[in-house]
Amino acid sequence: MEKFIDLHTHTTKSDGSMTPAELVRYAAEKGLVAVAITDHDTVDGVAEAIQEGSKAGVEVIAGVEISVDYSPEMHILGYFKDKCYMRLESTLEELRMYREIRNPKIINILSQMGVEISMEEVEKKAGESIISRAHIAKVLVDKGYANDIKDAFYKFLSPGRPAYVKKDKLAPESAIKKIIEAGGVPVLAHPIYLNKSYNELDELLAHLAKVGLAGIEAYYTENTEEDNRNLVKLAIKNDLLATGGSDFHGSFKTNIDIGTGYGNLKIPYAILERLKVELVKHKEKANCD
Ligand code: AMP
Ligand code: MN
Ligand code: MN
Ligand code: MN
Repeated sequence: MEKFIDLHTHTTKSDGSMTPAELVRYAAEKGLVAVAITDHDTVDGVAEAIQEGSKAGVEVIAGVEISVDYSPEMHILGYFKDKCYMRLESTLEELRMYREIRNPKIINILSQMGVEISMEEVEKKAGESIISRAHIAKVLVDKGYANDIKDAFYKFLSPGRPAYVKKDKLAPESAIKKIIEAGGVPVLAHPIYLNKSYNELDELLAHLAKVGLAGIEAYYTENTEEDNRNLVKLAIKNDLLATGGSDFHGSFKTNIDIGTGYGNLKIPYAILERLKVELVKHKEKANCD
């Protein structure tokens, strides 16, 4: 029987609704054999997930997702073997600090608009998670300022909307370099969000591959079949891995299920086998042990 995986998921350590252990148990329930934890700007959920994975019979890959300075939004995933991810901690700490600077600015703008939500309410909603716009969105929904999370982004929080505040970020090249220095494998997340033509994306990938990009998320929840085919072609052309993930967030993104996305996503285990070859190479090259 063919085995399936998911290389892009979020837990309560960032803006997912399941704890790392819950997410791994849920992956097992859904019949997945491997799952990567890729929280925004933190690797805090990895150890718990690995521990639960060994009980539940799910292979857990350490990962992270970093937002980089690019328009439109660009995210880089990093995947790690063993404890190499710990080497990225000071970089991630810096990125989390940029969030702490940005978040109160959003609350201030909302307040000036007569939308009264407090930083305390957002902190309470986030609990032990690092605070993201998704938590602010949830408070806006709870207090009746938006119908659902998507609506909260549309009304207030997305780029171009009144309460959008840009946060400081690493350049794409710097994030790639940091992940490589830590012994990780950098992968461009959800390339379709970049809204580029085939040729434009080809050009960008050629550039990023030169600075060390190792893969692209060729299989993704929001992709059409044609997107998948084009992205696999571009991966081959640029000598990059074609990876895949759902971007599961639990109840923060309803309708997106682990492994299957909106229902049709399928990421075969062979993708992880190829990634694992790179994980070993990158670990050795960075002298991470
Ligand atoms: P942040 O990293 O704090 O800027 O928050 C970004 C997070 O908000 C993303 O990782 C998504 O999970 C979520 N998000 C962004 N845009 C939307 C949207 N239009 N609808 C729902 N969730 C969104
Ligand atoms: Mn998210
Ligand atoms: Mn992303
Ligand atoms: Mn994500």
